[in-house]
Amino acid sequence: MTSPTAAHAGALLTIDLAAIVANWRLLRARVAPAACAAVVKADAYGLGAARVAPALAAAGCRHFFVAHLAEGMALRPLLPTHCEIFVLHGAPPRAEADCAALGLTPVLNSLEQIAAWSALARARGAPLAAVLQVDTGMARLGLSAPELARLAREPARLEGIALRALMSHLACAEDQGAPINTQQLARFRAARALLPACPASLSNSSGVFLGPDYHFDLARPGAALYGVAPVAGQPNPMQAVVRLQGKVIQVREIDAGTGVGYGLTWRAPQRARIATVAVGYADGYLRSLSARATARVAGTAVALVGRVSMDTITLDVTAVPPGALQPGDLVDLLDTGHGVDALAEAAGTIGYEILTSLGQRYARHYLDSDPSETRQ
Ligand SMILES: *Cc1c(COP(=O)(O)O)cnc(C)c1O
Repeated sequence: MTSPTAAHAGALLTIDLAAIVANWRLLRARVAPAACAAVVKADAYGLGAARVAPALAAAGCRHFFVAHLAEGMALRPLLPTHCEIFVLHGAPPRAEADCAALGLTPVLNSLEQIAAWSALARARGAPLAAVLQVDTGMARLGLSAPELARLAREPARLEGIALRALMSHLACAEDQGAPINTQQLARFRAARALLPACPASLSNSSGVFLGPDYHFDLARPGAALYGVAPVAGQPNPMQAVVRLQGKVIQVREIDAGTGVGYGLTWRAPQRARIATVAVGYADGYLRSLSARATARVAGTAVALVGRVSMDTITLDVTAVPPGALQPGDLVDLLDTGHGVDALAEAAGTIGYEILTSLGQRYARHYLDSDPSETRQ
């Protein structure tokens, strides 16, 4: 779906590709000499994989992770052939040949996926690349310890498979003091010792900040590329990537005691001025933000009052001088000072969910990663 123009849309979403590239460079420097991949699953966390991934490839990123095979298939023609695309879920049953035909590298998460990939490689008479995932304490994806032991005893199961890497995933990496981090690290090292030597990958965004022991050969950050704070309770070293500006539809004066929005959950304590803005929960401005968020009008903080509707929110703009806010004007809903993490906290969720909920009705504007191009 193509995004509407700024003139026609209810809101403007600006995505700073240069900030994403800067964030990737910061993470890459942090994990060097290990390599740094980019996780671009879920349409690059809602920001548009078709724009984000090529910008990162141009900056030198060579490893990309998606979740679903279909995501990898869509991404393949958009990236140079020297870039490798890893499919975290592996190939679904009976879709292995499609995965191989496009040169996508599956992450093999189970003995069944290993058997199917090995069978395909043997049938083709040529090795097929794959990443092997072991579960080290999250119980979500990857071989369990007994399955890994079985694989180590029966190495013929890997026949035809060119192991590109061994990987695992951390359950609590954003909590630097969680004891499970060191347990997972120890289990991952033990798993490596059981298998033929190959590169290793353990860290997501937060894992990068657990220190060099966690870096191995390839880091796999996603959220931090898009500006989400990688470490709970610490200053965010990442640059802000998104700006969301909602368009004012109407401004009205209301008397003291007037209720606003569905359920009339907010009543004006005194005469007030209300701006109705064309963003709602259908746009990923979550309903749980009702009465809990603020917006900025030319730098002045204004409170969201009443419930978030499907297509609108209502702001108390009494503090903004009369006439200063007109239909068509833009108010800041997400910006550098009030980013995805702050909005997520107000909504009772995480920055990841705010980003991946961003709607399709926004006019999307990309600030180019090429510094020679003019920035708007
Ligand atoms: C999503 C995902 C990542 C990226 O995680 P972030 O926390 O966004 O950095 C890395 N590895 C795996 C297996 C994932 O599922």
